[in-house]
Amino acid sequence: MAFREGRMGIAPPPTERHGVRSPQRRRDIALVSERERTLNILVTGGAGYIGSHAVRLLDRAGHRAWIYDNLSAGHRSAAPADRLIVGDLTDRPRLTAALAEHKIGAVMHFAAFALVGESVADPAKYYQNNVGGSLSLLEAMRAAGVGKMVFSSTTATYGAPQTTPISEDEPQRPINPYGFTKLVVEQALADYAQAYGLAYAALRYFNAAGASPHGDLGEDHTPESHLIPIVLQAALGQREKITIFGDDYPTPDGTCIRDYVHVDDLGAAHVQALERLRPGQGLRLNLGTGQGHSVREVVEACRRVTGRPIPVEIGPRRPGDPPELVADARRARQLLDWQPRYVELDAIVSTAWRWHSAHPRGYGD
Ligand code: UDP
Repeated sequence: MAFREGRMGIAPPPTERHGVRSPQRRRDIALVSERERTLNILVTGGAGYIGSHAVRLLDRAGHRAWIYDNLSAGHRSAAPADRLIVGDLTDRPRLTAALAEHKIGAVMHFAAFALVGESVADPAKYYQNNVGGSLSLLEAMRAAGVGKMVFSSTTATYGAPQTTPISEDEPQRPINPYGFTKLVVEQALADYAQAYGLAYAALRYFNAAGASPHGDLGEDHTPESHLIPIVLQAALGQREKITIFGDDYPTPDGTCIRDYVHVDDLGAAHVQALERLRPGQGLRLNLGTGQGHSVREVVEACRRVTGRPIPVEIGPRRPGDPPELVADARRARQLLDWQPRYVELDAIVSTAWRWHSAHPRGYGD
């Protein structure tokens, strides 16, 4: 079965007979245009770190987001209670019913497991959830006639790239099961687009970082493995020190370089992709700032922002860490008119610090 066009369609107003519009008629037309711009979106993983920020931005753009999350990594209090559907991606009847009930026009698909080391130790968990769950979602979308998806992909699909900055033309050769699961879904999206007319954007994130500047949404993973939250936990005294995983990489200060992109900038790219996708179109785009920062530079930024000494030790390399991952994100700028608002590392870290210092135990749920 081919995808129908999204459910956003509201018949355009009939052509004006005499070219003159009454005030009432103008109001009606304004209302119709407004409704045409408004979509009901199902956001899988919308109670998680990046998903919850995207929900906030969707709301702000005038759309209506419904959150579908099994709360395995998401947080109940990160989602609006009246729009949270607690469910599993593998529960296809539930998904299909949710798509129909809320007249969903497009899906943002964030829900996935995302820990590289865990994916190596327990690949079954990753293939079942990330691949199996995504296929279940795609079938539910087909059954409900929802033909648009914005998908969370990752730089991990590139593996250990030969060139930097990394463009979308870089060969995708993942080096761990997590990266493979995301690549398999990207391929499924391309095939569904070709055969059934799905419109999709696969957005390949570099290092998501920071938190909502309002201070009420932020990063809360258990266990925490990401650099900036770990360094800020050390600033809060929750950790004695931070361990730098290797200082013998071929980089200027010997530590790994990453491209840290603010979570609200990622969310904004999702909204722009959603609004710009045309039927049957497939986009594969990198999302990063184009600026690389070493682990040592991140620690320095955290010291500056928090004003606290952060003890550091040098440890062995973490297996599977490429020395440098920096985005060439020009395509997203061209096609989505997307421009990251947070370009300074200190500005990104400041938003993270506001969250972590106000919520030292995260969401507490
Ligand atoms: N890193 C580190 N110590 C830590 C956590 C991370 O030195 O306790 C390094 C890690 O080796 C990588 C960078 O910080 O070079 C970013 O790691 P993160 O896990 O935040 O993101 P990744 O790049 O792995 O997606």
